[in-house]
Amino acid sequence: MIRKIWILTLFPEFFKPFLECGIAGSAFRGERSDGDFKFEMHFVNIRDYSTTKYKSVDDSPFGGGPGMVMRADILKEALMKGVVEAGGYTDKNQLHVVYTSPRGTVWTNIVAREFGITTLAGEKDIVFICGRYEGIDERFLESYVDDFYSVGDYVLTGGEIPVMAILDSAVRFVPGILGNKLSATDDSFEDGLIEFPQYTKPREFDGKDVPAILLEGHHKKIGEWQKEQKIEMTKKWRPDLLKKKS
Ligand code: SAH
Repeated sequence: MIRKIWILTLFPEFFKPFLECGIAGSAFRGERSDGDFKFEMHFVNIRDYSTTKYKSVDDSPFGGGPGMVMRADILKEALMKGVVEAGGYTDKNQLHVVYTSPRGTVWTNIVAREFGITTLAGEKDIVFICGRYEGIDERFLESYVDDFYSVGDYVLTGGEIPVMAILDSAVRFVPGILGNKLSATDDSFEDGLIEFPQYTKPREFDGKDVPAILLEGHHKKIGEWQKEQKIEMTKKWRPDLLKKKS
């Protein structure tokens, strides 16, 4: 099965390095597959669907105020023509439409796992809409968006970086795609704790040795030490996580 991901953006070139680099890049280029499932990315430049003389996609807000708002009619064209029609879908409900916005569900590891399993690897192809300027006319959001996600309580200038953060973190949970390369289970947040400290060569660096237990080859002891370290590291770096756990 091919899972198509459509990205509506004013800056498709933003995604070029994301697709060219690393393990998430190869997954979204469709080069990682568990045999019968792979990704295919499509980019739609919202500006191509502008109906105005100067190809604008935004206008000043009714009621006044600073900044510009993306027009609902142009976004609808981009979605209906650029995705539904171009992709051969019978209607918009065959797609799962996501908008990133400070109002959305805050993205965490738990949300990423759920999204990876049930949406990225789910029933429907997915559309991400990248906002710019002050955002998007509310009427479009009400009628055409299924899910809203925020990457945190701060404001970015556009939805492209949030979309990449969402895809990059959720793909780790899509069954079969990253295989053992990135077994998510040892990573931070999986058990409400952050990762234990990691060491590699050289054995001595700037006069500091690697913890002796890691060199003894006793796997059970190493496992116990790593568990303890996770708790110690969480106490030191992210004590708020321990509060949430209890
Ligand atoms: N005026 C809006 C912010 C617009 S920022 C407000 O006050 O909420 C421009 C675009 O960047 C938004 O449309 C959204 O798609 C994206 N964006 C900004 N901050 C974001 C965040 N924390 N999470 C997800 N998307 C965000």
